[in-house]
Amino acid sequence: MHRSGAVMAWNVFKFCTALRGLGSIMILLVLGVVGVTYYAVVITNYGPLLSNGGLDSVYAFLLLLAFHCLLVMLLWSYFSVVLTDPGGVPPNWRPVLDEERGETLPLTGPEFAGSQPGVPLSDTANPRIRYCRKCNHLKPPRCHHCSVCGRCVLKMDHHCVWVVNCVGALNYKYFLLFLFYTFLETSLVTLSLLPHFIAFFSDGEIPGTPGSLASTFLAFVLNLAFALSVMGFLIMHCSLVAGNTTTIEAYEKKTTPKWRYDLGRRKNFEQVFGADKRYWFIPAYAEEDLRRMPALQGLEYPSKPDLDAQEF
Ligand SMILES: [Zn+2]
Ligand SMILES: [Zn+2]
Repeated sequence: MHRSGAVMAWNVFKFCTALRGLGSIMILLVLGVVGVTYYAVVITNYGPLLSNGGLDSVYAFLLLLAFHCLLVMLLWSYFSVVLTDPGGVPPNWRPVLDEERGETLPLTGPEFAGSQPGVPLSDTANPRIRYCRKCNHLKPPRCHHCSVCGRCVLKMDHHCVWVVNCVGALNYKYFLLFLFYTFLETSLVTLSLLPHFIAFFSDGEIPGTPGSLASTFLAFVLNLAFALSVMGFLIMHCSLVAGNTTTIEAYEKKTTPKWRYDLGRRKNFEQVFGADKRYWFIPAYAEEDLRRMPALQGLEYPSKPDLDAQEF
């Protein structure tokens, strides 16, 4: 029994290591898809039209302008998610306690009741305060332990293999923008390559080298697949943001019937995107928002006063 437990732990460790190792490959894969698409749209199909003159050139110019703008936003958002720390628990973090309601902080460290093997967390002095046994520290509200990263992540949404990072409090907005710009870019590419793709199935001779034809075919299929799957994700995350819920919280079904963090659509949206409209579409926050809104730092979240007793 002990032995099989050890083997299982080893397997899980190997799995997590494999996911971490997959990291750089996923970044190369994303850049590979971008490269094939760029070659098909700019070099092969629309770039040469620029020198044709007339309406063809105007159309190609406008399409290439939109393509490049979206590509810059997509890559900016992508590398912001990859490179931004989703948020860790600061050393010696302590929850803000409501002493009027008689809340007390349990003993911390090894003496903390919840950290002792066999003692369920609900047996602790305050069930609202959670403890991570793997990291040996108290957990802020909405914080979860990620087994791939091997640490607790603030307002963890999920561990994303495409961005080789956890998606949490500090990079969730960037992740949503990445989905948004990927959807727009892949849709644009799919529509612009559609006439060229249809030409493959016509009887006439298709102009172009085998390399350019292959890249057009591949770029169309890849962009169509990404547009459809990202659209699904985007719709799902729009409803999550509207309800101020993370993927993990939705999965744990904590949000029914009333969710303590649901402050109304506008406020829920601002807790992810900030209040300053000028920053809504770029992967950054206004200094003022960061100072004024504690939710953007990932440690404290305003909640409905009547639902305060609900579990974190
Ligand atoms: Zn942890
Ligand atoms: Zn993670």
